[in-house]
Amino acid sequence: MSSVALITGAASGIGAATAHRLADGGARCVLVDLDHDAVERLAKELGGTALTGDVTERETSERAVALALETYGRLDLVHLNAGIVSGVDLSAFDPERYRRAVGVNMDGVVFGVAAALPALRRSGGGAIVVTASLAGLVGYDGDPVYTMTKHAVVGLVRALAQPLAADGIRIGAVCPGFTDTPLVSEMRETFRGAGFPLLTAEDVAAAVESAFYAEEPGAVLVVQPGRLPVPYRFAG
Ligand code: NAD
Repeated sequence: MSSVALITGAASGIGAATAHRLADGGARCVLVDLDHDAVERLAKELGGTALTGDVTERETSERAVALALETYGRLDLVHLNAGIVSGVDLSAFDPERYRRAVGVNMDGVVFGVAAALPALRRSGGGAIVVTASLAGLVGYDGDPVYTMTKHAVVGLVRALAQPLAADGIRIGAVCPGFTDTPLVSEMRETFRGAGFPLLTAEDVAAAVESAFYAEEPGAVLVVQPGRLPVPYRFAG
């Protein structure tokens, strides 16, 4: 039987590339995004199911999981990918920007995990992969609040890896470097000018797929241009 996948932030960039990759492999997909038109269009193209919603609201994750169960009868793979840069300048603090970044990048992941676990258990196991970032492993000074949120989700993955493995549920993260998606559109020309290599969304989607099937619980894969994804080795 083909897998049933749920992908957040599915309408663009890395989420859309993962949706294409999983659908090409035969998965049936529930695609969640804020962008109504884009997510509907992609679902039509891939023969999947769209949900327009904001991952900062718990109800969105719960509705997405319910939609997978109602439409396809099970849930196997969950890609918690929706994310934004924060742009928070701590010297001119903007509480709304801060709350939004924490809401999307952290709450969205926690709500996604909480909503998915009962369904994955019902399906006899499965896998969750979070799109973190290299900024989840190193102190990226370009956006300290973004860096904080990505460290937080790597911590969540590491803490849940062993307990979930006992239920046959794998949880992992991918940590890509800069990737050529609309998220970095403002920086794209600077990168090009400097000859700085960017990942493609497809490179990251391939890493997401390998993280779904990684043998090691809690695999945190570093994704960089021109290299195969490698598990990050934490000290201690
Ligand atoms: P993107 O902007 O192309 O796609 C993000 C998608 O998420 C968009 O379709 C957007 O509408 C959706 N989204 C944003 N907020 C949402 C919300 N609250 N609820 C539902 N959907 C929402 O960006 P991308 O580069 O594909 O980013 C995907 C993930 O990859 C993010 O978590 C990002 O932090 C991470 N990442 C990106 C890069 C990069 O350089 N592009 C590098 C490392 C990690």
